Amino acid sequence: MSGLYDSFQRPINYLRISITDRCNLRCIYCMPVEGITSIPHDQILRYEEIYLVAQAAAKLGINKLRLTGGEPLIRSHLVTLVEMLAGIEGIDDIALTTNGVLLKHYAFDLKQAGLKRVNISIDSLQERKFHRITRVGTMNDVLEGMSAAHQAGLEPVKVNTVILRGVNDDEIIDFAQKTIDEGWHVRFIELIPIGQGQRRKWFMPISEIRARIEELGMLEPCPLSGNGPAKYFRLPDSRGTVGFISPVTEHICIRCNRLRLTADGKLRPCLLSDEEIDLREPLRRGVSSEQICHLIREAVAAKPQGHQLAKGITSKKQAMAQIGG
Ligand code: SAM
Ligand code: SF4
Repeated sequence: MSGLYDSFQRPINYLRISITDRCNLRCIYCMPVEGITSIPHDQILRYEEIYLVAQAAAKLGINKLRLTGGEPLIRSHLVTLVEMLAGIEGIDDIALTTNGVLLKHYAFDLKQAGLKRVNISIDSLQERKFHRITRVGTMNDVLEGMSAAHQAGLEPVKVNTVILRGVNDDEIIDFAQKTIDEGWHVRFIELIPIGQGQRRKWFMPISEIRARIEELGMLEPCPLSGNGPAKYFRLPDSRGTVGFISPVTEHICIRCNRLRLTADGKLRPCLLSDEEIDLREPLRRGVSSEQICHLIREAVAAKPQGHQLAKGITSKKQAMAQIGG
């Protein structure tokens, strides 16, 4: 078998890179209102260091990268990083997860630099509620970002929507309707119990979200390119798709194909386990590419079979933004 496989024979071909833990929003289920204690600048991986990790990962068989955070678009010179990563032999897909607020300023340059696709997070289609959820955001900025992404050809543009019971579950149908009226690709995501997301009253299982959407018609399974755990469907007469991501109520770990690199240079075998392998110190010691490959193999070997949410075990991090969602 060539390529990277973990101890459970899952192929690992996908690296999610968090480039910052900072954010220009304060989503109620992700960040505390006062924000989190940010990692000091000198502890954040420099672009050259991220490049060395991605290059070593590519040698081992990783061919897909995603940049995330925090909010990746608030880090300066992101276009330069994308250009550097796009030049790595073996990397054939680079995607970005963003809240979309700043996207209209960068969509074209990012595309030119080699970015293929974007996922844009938006949890409400109502300006007031959008502001209530993000605490500081303006929905129109995100919609303009989405439009710029389409114009730049960052396709398919996918929309990430975390459903919170009692907050935005009344908009499930509105989001699903967008797949019919405007061809959106909307992915409904279950709230993961990390940090602020541990409020049980907000949790709504995908089965319930799906049942509401089925009021609009039968969901037909359909393929949509992606690297992740989402399952995609189409409503009758829709150009867009409805995706479901159910990390809590389904065994999506069976299909897990990823590693995470945190903004401060830790390789994380699993989102929901705090086990990490430090790369920053070895990188700053000037280790060889072979030694980075060795550490990446170690992280792959340490991937657990699945998360332990059923036993109440989750990450102790304050926010998803500290890991890279
Ligand atoms: N700031 C960017 C954004 O919002 O897209 C990238 C980072 S954010 C942590 C990545 C994704 O994680 C977003 O779609 C966000 O909605 C999601 N997220 C954050 N906290 C979550 C939680 N507790 N459960 C499920 N998804 C969460
Ligand atoms: Fe920021 Fe994204 Fe977290 Fe919202 S979900 S606070 S945009 S990192």
